[in-house]
Amino acid sequence: MTLSEKLYDLLAKQLPCDKGFVALHEPCFAGHEWDYVKECLDTGWVSSVGKYVDQFENDLAEYTGVTKAVACVNGTAALSVALRLVGVQQGDEVLVPALTFIATTNAIAYQGAIPHFVDSEYQSLAVCVNKLESHLKDITEMRDGFCFNKQSGRRIAALVVVHVFGHPAKDIEDLVSLCQKYNIKLVEDAAESLGSFYKGKHTGHFGSVAATSFNGNKILTTGGGGALLTNDPELGKLAKHLTTTAKVPHAWRFNHDMLGYNYRLPNINAALGVAQLEQLPKFLEQKKRLFEAYKQLFAGCDEFELLGPVDGAESNHWLNAIILKPEFTNEFELILNEVNQKGFMLRPLWTLMHHMPMYSDCPRMDLSVAQDLEKRTINIPSSAFLGG
Ligand SMILES: *Cc1c(COP(=O)(O)O)cnc(C)c1O
Repeated sequence: MTLSEKLYDLLAKQLPCDKGFVALHEPCFAGHEWDYVKECLDTGWVSSVGKYVDQFENDLAEYTGVTKAVACVNGTAALSVALRLVGVQQGDEVLVPALTFIATTNAIAYQGAIPHFVDSEYQSLAVCVNKLESHLKDITEMRDGFCFNKQSGRRIAALVVVHVFGHPAKDIEDLVSLCQKYNIKLVEDAAESLGSFYKGKHTGHFGSVAATSFNGNKILTTGGGGALLTNDPELGKLAKHLTTTAKVPHAWRFNHDMLGYNYRLPNINAALGVAQLEQLPKFLEQKKRLFEAYKQLFAGCDEFELLGPVDGAESNHWLNAIILKPEFTNEFELILNEVNQKGFMLRPLWTLMHHMPMYSDCPRMDLSVAQDLEKRTINIPSSAFLGG
């Protein structure tokens, strides 16, 4: 039996084989979505103001435990505002994993800053604190209290940590300390980790600001959407101001005191979000069940290893991933081809950021772990309903 046959047979023990193609991640609208969206249409409040935006922001803050949540048009917009909020300026460098979705890196470029790629670790696929620390020791010096790259002469203003596939980053606490030591601002890309906690704290509590996403493939969706999360009341206020065109409140005058953005989440999308957030506990249970089922399936398997959360982490299990053992790397393409063709959707890891033409000249450290993971990591179907 080939490896691709073996994987298909294993997955077929959990996934439906008779209902057509099984997607990687499908949304589920089984709550009050129709009611709330209909209300927007019936009342005409579909756009940039309306009660659901406020309610969604309040519900998000309450669920995650942050002081302030600001709804945005998408997660990428939220990330780029997050970087501006922590003071990233044109010509600064921002540390970011090479192993992430393109949006994380684009958000840095939108601010006129330069991505500086860092490596990941094997347990949670997030930024590796040990490698980052020795890299910073080698290439930086402190000047007037700020961290500078000695090689490029540029300031290193921030680090973006990504909670990959929903699993909280293993080294998040040590990364907080490392950033403090070097006066580097920490931003969390929590786009995939709504509902994920580390040592009891929701992801997004560790950095100065975090961004999350409600794109159609995330654990819950508003069609398109995102949010900024912060515990700093001043940054929270500024986040709302910047994302709503920086308008100075007045009964009728149009004054704007900063370069703001029209990054509001429309009320109709927020209505969807309120209904989806009501179901998050159910989604989390289903996803936990699916993960446990996969864990059993892959337990005795010599060729694939299922990625699980690290100690102290409570994951939302947004997207399950298996990692091929190194000796089977040459089967990778064939597995993706054949299992996709047979009807179970598989996807490889993102192409690493320094392989994109617009980022190929950016500064980077040794990326050997990310490069190794890129050749062996496969996402498998993970929709909540598959957990039963
Ligand atoms: C989805 C995602 C984003 C961007 O979110 P959008 O809402 O699609 O703009 C950013 N980073 C990561 C890691 C993501 O998975």
